[in-house]
Amino acid sequence: MAEPANQAAEPALVQETRLQENSYDVEVQLSDLQKDTENPLGSAHTFEELGLPGDVLKGLLAMNFQKPSKVQEKALPLMLSDPPANMIAQSQSGTGKTAAFVTTVLSRVDHSSNQPQALLLAPSRELARQIENVITHIGQFISNLGVAAAIPGSIPRDGRVDKSIVVGTPGTVMDLIRRRQFDASQLRVLVIDEADNMLDQQGMGDQCARVKNMLPKNIQILLFSATFPDKVMKYATTFAPNANMIKLKVQELTVKGISQMYMDCPSEADKYEILCKLYGLMNIGSSIIFVKTRESASQIQKRMMKDGHRVSVLHGAYEGSERDSLLEEFRTGKSKVLITTNVLARGIDVSTVSMVINYDIPMKGMGDAVHDTETYLHRIGRTGRFGRVGVSITFISDKKSFDALRNIAADLEIDLVALKPDDWDETEEKVQRVIKSSRAQAEFVPSAGV
Ligand code: ADP
Ligand code: MG
Repeated sequence: MAEPANQAAEPALVQETRLQENSYDVEVQLSDLQKDTENPLGSAHTFEELGLPGDVLKGLLAMNFQKPSKVQEKALPLMLSDPPANMIAQSQSGTGKTAAFVTTVLSRVDHSSNQPQALLLAPSRELARQIENVITHIGQFISNLGVAAAIPGSIPRDGRVDKSIVVGTPGTVMDLIRRRQFDASQLRVLVIDEADNMLDQQGMGDQCARVKNMLPKNIQILLFSATFPDKVMKYATTFAPNANMIKLKVQELTVKGISQMYMDCPSEADKYEILCKLYGLMNIGSSIIFVKTRESASQIQKRMMKDGHRVSVLHGAYEGSERDSLLEEFRTGKSKVLITTNVLARGIDVSTVSMVINYDIPMKGMGDAVHDTETYLHRIGRTGRFGRVGVSITFISDKKSFDALRNIAADLEIDLVALKPDDWDETEEKVQRVIKSSRAQAEFVPSAGV
């Protein structure tokens, strides 16, 4: 096993994994990608052929969606069949899982009643809000569409959840049902987004199991994620028994449009300066910088602002409403660089994000001893949404981070492109080549984001 090469002529990761230079000279249009039925964005059918209720179909077409993606085409008929069957669906980041389950929920609910009938759970308030938004967009032609958010601070202590569709985080949902503010007795669909994280005992597994115990026994359960590690998948099949399944092979996990790179930083202390150098590239599109702790997120923000850079920060220590407005600023492009923690690693869909930086490599387990391949995939998946291209740059600075990245690359069976901190021209060239092609592409990809 090679030691971290740092600034040595040949970066160590490249010795062991083939260096892969993606060529973006030929830009592929989304409509071409969607013609290819092997592509995760492609399908053989149209939305019209899927037999959806008229007002839901109208909503999908109003989003400018030309064709279903693979997961939408495959999962929708299975989820909409009667009697209802459970579903466990895995599909790459940015391939339209949300629209798949939202379409199902909208098709299954009796919108003339304000009795809660569908519950959707997500790991963060931001993701719950985003899903709520997708529901209102796809459901825009449904009269009496009712959606409630069950996230901290959204329902007053004496209020009731009296909407047919409820989107929330598990803790708040549990509290509301316990306090009898939320009558769960008539729920018929339960969706869990980011299901591997939500069912993991290390994550929110306990809370989700408790919520499930408060729901009708025959409820249809739909589990969605880009990742399902074996251990969690086993539990998922007992959580959602007899489910129809859509699974990916290891080789299919990574999204082609995301150019994965790494920066071999001489030391931990050098990471900050390298980040500041990259700032010039970050403003081309929007960028997300992932760090390990809330404290380091805030520290880096302070330092960067002192050095004259404009950056925002979002993490769990902020108040709910402040978090909503911070993310809104990022979505609308008012702020272009967002420093955050794993709280935003999953699900967040901002189509303008062209670069993701793993300032700290994702680790898990006691004492952060183990590389976290799933979180890595979800973090980099904040770029390259639905056929767009983007860059991810993972910082390594010592043997531990080097080993972690090498293990992640091995798990995913991928190669990463090496960036050298001492050859800035080359770094800029490599990164810009991808980001610029993403900008060119964005001009003819219909803006589908909400
Ligand atoms: P995932 O949950 O699989 O990571 P999302 O559901 O967040 O992905 O979708 C990613 C983006 O793709 C969203 O901006 C969404 O509006 C867009 N999208 C979804 N389905 C389609 C489609 N059939 N055609 C075009 N764009 C789509
Ligand atoms: Mg998602």
